Amino acid sequence: MVRASVLDLLEKSLPWPLIREMDEERAFPHAAYDALAKAGFMGLFYPEEYGGTGGSHKDFTALVETLGYYYTGIAQAYMTTVIYAGMHVVKFGRPEVKAEIVPKIISGEIKLALAMSEPGTGSDVAGIKTRAVRDGDDYVLNGQKVWITCAHVADYLVVVCKTDIAAERHRGLSIFLVDAKAPGVTIRPLNMLGRRTTHANEVFLENVRISKRHMLGEENAAWKNLMHCLGVERLCLAAISAGHCAKITEYAADYAQQRIQFGQPISDFQVIQHKLVDMAIMSESARQSVWRVAELLDGGQNAVRELSMAKIICTDNNFRCADIGLQVMGGAGYSAEYDMAMFFRDSRVGPIGGGSNEIQRNVIAKQMGL
Ligand SMILES: Cc1cc2nc3c(=O)[nH]c(=O)nc-3n(C[C@H](O)[C@H](O)[C@H](O)COP(=O)(O)OP(=O)(O)OC[C@H]3O[C@@H](n4cnc5c(N)ncnc54)[C@H](O)[C@@H]3O)c2cc1C
Repeated sequence: MVRASVLDLLEKSLPWPLIREMDEERAFPHAAYDALAKAGFMGLFYPEEYGGTGGSHKDFTALVETLGYYYTGIAQAYMTTVIYAGMHVVKFGRPEVKAEIVPKIISGEIKLALAMSEPGTGSDVAGIKTRAVRDGDDYVLNGQKVWITCAHVADYLVVVCKTDIAAERHRGLSIFLVDAKAPGVTIRPLNMLGRRTTHANEVFLENVRISKRHMLGEENAAWKNLMHCLGVERLCLAAISAGHCAKITEYAADYAQQRIQFGQPISDFQVIQHKLVDMAIMSESARQSVWRVAELLDGGQNAVRELSMAKIICTDNNFRCADIGLQVMGGAGYSAEYDMAMFFRDSRVGPIGGGSNEIQRNVIAKQMGL
C-alpha cells in the first residue's frame, strides 16, 4: 500500500521529465516534498506522541526503498530532514523544542540539515573542531562545515560541535539546533557530481549565538546519540540504493529489448542477458539485505554488523548496477540524453556518504573481534 500510494503521489507531483530539468538546474524538489508531507509520510517513523504514525522499520523501509526507486533525489530530500537531522530533535530535543519543531517537520513547514563533516574531519567524526563555548545561558559557535546536504533549503541546521576541548576525542561533543538564518551563519552551495537536486553546501559559523535549550541531548555526551542516529541513516541509505538498483535494472532491460543490432534486439545476446541477470541478482540481494536488517531492528536488536553489511551491499550494488547498465546501453548510456548517465552519477555517492564503505568494514571487523 505504501509503495502504490507513494508512486502515485510522485508521478503527479514530480513527473519524470521535470526531474531531468531540475537535475540540470540543481533545483530542490519542493512540490514532491510538500506532497509527501501533505500525505502524512514525514511522520511515518516518528512516535505517535509527537504526531507521527509510529511506523516500524519495515514500514519505513518500504517508503524509502520506493522513494529511491522513483528518484534518489526525493529520497535524499526526505531522509535529510526526517532522519539525518530530524531524528536528533525527536530523540534528544528538550520537550518544548520537540513540541515546537517536530509538528513542523511532519507538516513539511520546515526542513533541516545535518552539519557534522568538516574540511579536516570526514570519516574521523570524533576529530570535529567546530567550537561551542558557553556564555551565560547561551553557547557561541565558531567553525566550518562541508558537504552539508540541503543546507541551502534548510530552516534549521543540526550542528555537531566540540564543547570540551580537553576531553578525550569521543567525549566533549555536543549537538545544537541552529536557525539557518541566524546572524553569523553563511551557506555556500557546492557543485557535486550527482544527486544535484539535493546538493551539498559549505556552512560557515561565525560567533553564532544559541540558547542552551537548543542543545539536543546532554552536554559533552553526543557521541552515543550520533552513533544511534547514524545507524538509522545507514538503513535509509541502504533502502534508497536497493530501490535505485531495481530502477536501473528495469531501465537497462527495457532498453536492451528495444535496441536492435545485427537484426535482433541486443537482449537476445546471451552476454547481454547475463549482464542484466547480474544486475537483477545485485538488486534482489540488496533488497533482501535491507529487509533483513529492518526485521532485526523491529525485533529489538541493534544489528550493528548487519546494518553496515547492508549499507555496503546496497550502495556497492547500486553503483555496479549503474556501471553495467551503462555498458549495456553503449553510447546511449554515456550520453546525458538518456537517464542512465544520471543514474550513474547519482549512485556514486553511496559508497562514500553515511560513513564510507571502508569505515563500514572497520565497524564489521570490530564486531568480528578483529
Ligand atoms: C554528496 C555528499 C553528501 C554529504 N552529506 C553530508 C551531510 O549532509 N552532512 C554531513 O555532515 N556530511 C555529509 N557528507 C560527508 C560524508 O559523510 C563524508 O564525505 C564521508 O564521511 C567521508 O569523509 P571524507 O569525505 O572527509 O573522506 P575522508 O575521511 O578523507 O576519507 C577519504 C578516503 O579514505 C578512507 N578512509 C578514511 N579513514 C579510513 C580508515 N580509518 N580506514 C579505512 N579507510 C579510511 C575513506 O573510506 C575514503 O575512501 C556528504 C558527502 C557527500 C559526498
